[in-house]
Amino acid sequence: MITVNQLSKAYGAVQALHDVSFQIGAGEIVGLLGPNGAGKTTLIKILTGYLQPDSGQATIDGLDVLTHPLEVQARIGYLPENAPLYPELSVQAYLKMMADLRQVPPEQLQARISAAVFATGLSEHLTRPIGQLSKGYRQRVGLAQAILHQPRLLILDEPTVGLDPTQIVEIRHLIRRLAQHSTVLFSTHILPEVEALCDRVLILMRGEVKVDARLAELASANRVLLTLEGKTADPTPTLAALPGVTQVEKLPKANGRVTYRIHGANGADLPPTIYQAAASHGWPLRELRQETQTLESIFSQLAG
Ligand code: ATP
Repeated sequence: MITVNQLSKAYGAVQALHDVSFQIGAGEIVGLLGPNGAGKTTLIKILTGYLQPDSGQATIDGLDVLTHPLEVQARIGYLPENAPLYPELSVQAYLKMMADLRQVPPEQLQARISAAVFATGLSEHLTRPIGQLSKGYRQRVGLAQAILHQPRLLILDEPTVGLDPTQIVEIRHLIRRLAQHSTVLFSTHILPEVEALCDRVLILMRGEVKVDARLAELASANRVLLTLEGKTADPTPTLAALPGVTQVEKLPKANGRVTYRIHGANGADLPPTIYQAAASHGWPLRELRQETQTLESIFSQLAG
């Protein structure tokens, strides 16, 4: 559904995106995670045809976003970071205006508005001016306009920002319902949001994709942390040669101790093998433990 190939974008001296590549298949719910200034909005604006990249290519449903902007926008439901809602219009009048702008055929207009209103739970607020709605309900109006033309792809820029906990839960339920019929890409800097909603996460940091993984893969990653006390010969070659070990990383020294992160193949039972190696080589063992990977631990490792 989305193919992004070596996209780069700079604003003057600020490199907002650098060589970003990924693909998203139809039906996936993907969280685009990153700290402030990581480049999420820039990427979303390029995908939705609101901004031109300096280099690289993005296609939606096989169509280049630069050369086919109208066809691409017809396939996308987009909720921008600050959705331009008209406070004086009623929900109904606003949705009708947006349906007209999206060239929904007149004979389908009423049915499309009703479907969007039903999906977003706005039925009781149709006649109220948008400016009088709570922020959560205004966000629903933003989502309703995004789905009016029954897009196959929903792109949502921080859909829960500024909402209270109850509203956040409601909007998450809503996104999950919408994802039954559409591919969803949404940006956020809230880790539990990704865990609650997504099949897959893309972590963007300083304009680069640092992680592109299924959440299930992250949870099942097989990694062990080995901490050795004091000075000892570098155990990396020995560790790397152990059965089931795929990679060894040396972490920065702390308190005179050195920690190694040892990656294992799926199903490899690393701790006993590493323990035996430590015993037979006389390594001053301080700690040996399986590392559980969460989005939070990955994020802090990347930030570190
Ligand atoms: P946030 O989570 O804070 O919304 P983001 O991940 O969406 O951040 P972007 O808004 O894409 O990040 O910004 C990426 C970088 O580009 C930042 O350093 C930002 O200051 C810069 N930037 C974004 N828009 C512009 C602009 N119009 N002019 C100059 N710099 C910009």
